[in-house]
Amino acid sequence: MPSYKIVLTADRSLMSSYGNGLFYGFLTTGPVRGFVPLPILMNFIFKPVPVGSKGEAILAPHGLRRIEAALVESGVVDESEIIVAPPETLRKVIGEDTKIIGIYSHDHLGRGPASTAFSGPTGIIHEEPISAYFFKMLVTSPIIQEARKRGALVVAGGPGAWQFTHEDMNRLGVDLVLYGEGEKTVPKIFSKILRGEEIKIPQIIHTKPSEYPKAEEIPLLRGATIGGLVEVSRGCGRGCNFCKPTLVPLRHRPLTHILKDIETNVKYGQKNICLHSEDILRYGAGVFEVKHEKVVELFEKASKVPGARITSFSHANLSSIAAHSKTVKAIAEILGTDYHNWIGYQTGIETGSSRLIEMHMKYKPYPF
Ligand code: SF4
Repeated sequence: MPSYKIVLTADRSLMSSYGNGLFYGFLTTGPVRGFVPLPILMNFIFKPVPVGSKGEAILAPHGLRRIEAALVESGVVDESEIIVAPPETLRKVIGEDTKIIGIYSHDHLGRGPASTAFSGPTGIIHEEPISAYFFKMLVTSPIIQEARKRGALVVAGGPGAWQFTHEDMNRLGVDLVLYGEGEKTVPKIFSKILRGEEIKIPQIIHTKPSEYPKAEEIPLLRGATIGGLVEVSRGCGRGCNFCKPTLVPLRHRPLTHILKDIETNVKYGQKNICLHSEDILRYGAGVFEVKHEKVVELFEKASKVPGARITSFSHANLSSIAAHSKTVKAIAEILGTDYHNWIGYQTGIETGSSRLIEMHMKYKPYPF
């Protein structure tokens, strides 16, 4: 049976549409025992993503979709040589031709902030986090480790990649860890592997800031994303000293690209769209400003994409909301939200303590 040169996947806790409630995904940071019983979570909340006839995931994590797009757009592989697949179909898509298995996670080893608060040795319940449990189950599965013995490289990437040491890689059977924005680095590294060039393993590779893509270089999605997530901006710039998004420059994607990504989601059946950025009110603006017209244009045009429904956005700063009520009202009018028909989003960490703000997040409340 023909197999794919590059197989991109993620564990069972991430390859789920969470019953159309994207933020239920946070339950993956809970403990595997002593919490919601796993069979209930898996059968009622973490239902698997739908699958196509080739074994492809119809919905996939946003980060995997960007890497898929980067690999095809850069010509590293042809569309027919790469697949994004959930764990359930790996037996169908991995085979003799498979040279690279890329595994995405935001919390490979359960050492992220939410996991360490709820689970593991430092958490409320001292049991392994669900995210780490399923990543381990996937990466050590016979289908992946047998392919590795045949010469395929197992590559881990995604926001949780910082958690790996070489010892973890040896223990779990991971050859390469790629950390940081991968749109430019992953195609370079994967094409080296496919050309048969020698790559030192195990190896942890960090993307250099010079290799971050510009906003207009972020490749367009080629399939639908879980939760209909569509990135509108990347980075933040407010410099909170516990925060990762602030470590990369703030960039806003062109509106035409955002609209195309929404159209792609609709084309593959994902009609409910969640606009992603660290603070939606700062779309199109600098670190400390809000450009009313840009934000209104974003919501107006996004909500007019045929078939799409803008159901939420991922983050908004409370300070931006408090300082720009005119923009908030305009968004509410466009989305048709009111006191009874509201939407949820994340504000990130907030505190009423001026001491903590001064110590850790001096610029987050700007202009207050
Ligand atoms: S405002 Fe939010 S995203 Fe920006 S640096 Fe602070 S915590 Fe991070």
